[in-house]
Amino acid sequence: MDALFVLAAVLLIYGLKLMGKAATARKGNVLSGAGMLLAVATTLWIFPPKNTWVLVSVVTFGSLIGIWTAAYVKMTAMPELVALFNGFGGLASLLVGMVEGLKLMDTSDNGVGSNSVFTKVAIVSAIVIGGITFTGSLVAYGKLSRKLPGGSIVFPFQMYVCCGLGCWLYWWLYGWVTSESFVDLSSLSAIVILSLVAGVLFTLHIGGGDMPVVIALLNSLSGVAACAAGLISLNKVLIVAGCLVGTSGLILTLIMCKAMNRSIGKVLLGGFKASGTKAQSKSFGEPKTMSAEDAYFPLEAARTVAIVPGYGLAVAQAQHAVKELVQKLTENGAEVFYAIHPVAGRMPGHMNVLLAEADVDYDQLTELEAANARFPETDVTIVVGANDVVNPAAVENKNSPLYGMPILEVFKAKTVLVLKRGQGKGFSGLENELFLKDNVRMIYGDAKKTLTQLAAQFKGE
Ligand code: NDP
Repeated sequence: MDALFVLAAVLLIYGLKLMGKAATARKGNVLSGAGMLLAVATTLWIFPPKNTWVLVSVVTFGSLIGIWTAAYVKMTAMPELVALFNGFGGLASLLVGMVEGLKLMDTSDNGVGSNSVFTKVAIVSAIVIGGITFTGSLVAYGKLSRKLPGGSIVFPFQMYVCCGLGCWLYWWLYGWVTSESFVDLSSLSAIVILSLVAGVLFTLHIGGGDMPVVIALLNSLSGVAACAAGLISLNKVLIVAGCLVGTSGLILTLIMCKAMNRSIGKVLLGGFKASGTKAQSKSFGEPKTMSAEDAYFPLEAARTVAIVPGYGLAVAQAQHAVKELVQKLTENGAEVFYAIHPVAGRMPGHMNVLLAEADVDYDQLTELEAANARFPETDVTIVVGANDVVNPAAVENKNSPLYGMPILEVFKAKTVLVLKRGQGKGFSGLENELFLKDNVRMIYGDAKKTLTQLAAQFKGE
């Protein structure tokens, strides 16, 4: 049996490795899925369920929902879906913890057969981390899908409420873990409820530009919760999978923090205040516009062109259109590179995934620092539905909440063409002074339509 678990873990890890490259990602996904299937089958073989029909129905129902959502979700709704998946991972761990906690109350069937501190710590970890991940992810889902305001949501005495809740939770946990007589229903219920409330409070006050960090952190927490659930049931593959998700999510969190130039402490405690938005919008001037036809002239003459994709590329589903324009520019003798900001879009790697869909060569993708070094020598930079990640307030305006966040310094290019539908703001809700700069022209309209029009100029259509 152990050999089957080891095989499942190997499949999972090798699959993850293959997911690191666009060309092998699909194969990696299938291999990891096969590893998980093997792990579930082996577990059921070792511990045959008491009621097979209940299990089969639940697994079938869950699988159908999973297949249906994955097949029909819009690409732009992917980040929300990932947030929900993280949340349901947390909920599963919470339920495992609750069931084992309830079992321990029944002396005739005390769960994993131990009332040890180790078991109790594993159970409360699954409940607390799973609960926080579940409700925290629901709030993140609400913010990403705009069902809740995307910015920081604050209320009076929030910090005191959070600290009070933390102390109260700690008090229950300490009592639970150290008690000889062990758990009763009221303490179990209190810990579950307080964990769920903590998840909401944890995510509510974080918003705007700090959201990428929270998404990555919740992803990591879902792994840690799964690992705790694996320790309760002594399921080796769950422990391995949980550790992998937990550590990779933590690494991603730190990368995101670096990309935003924020410490994890500031993200968790500070909250992102979109202050100044109203004042800015009052004095905000009128950007200069250009038609797609007129944009042909600077593009035709350009020897170096940068493409800066942002969330609008995902909304417009313009990845194929952008590739077509790049082909035209290259045939015209221009050197073209894509400048990728680590938090562009709504999920880590969002732009890479979109461009990979259009078979854009990975060698053409340039990371933030390298791209910034190239902008001063770039004849034309085309910003395709990006806003916050090119906002010069991050380097020019000390009062801006974005100040200090590394951005793509597109304003240093000789000419900048911004493709967006209108005066819409970015995720942070802040105005963007880039659009008022002398070397910047706005081409309003859906990005896909504009890109197709630009490419058509080269065809002479
Ligand atoms: P932004 O959200 O800042 O801006 C997107 C812009 O795209 C909008 O201003 C919008 O303007 C434009 N747009 C929308 N639809 C279209 C369309 N069909 N055609 C053309 N333009 C369109 O995107 P960025 O990528 O610049 O920045 C990402 C933001 O999201 C950052 O603030 C980041 O912190 C945050 N975030 C990132 C996450 C991640 O992991 N990557 C996770 C959570 C949040 P208009 O309406 O006028 O068209």
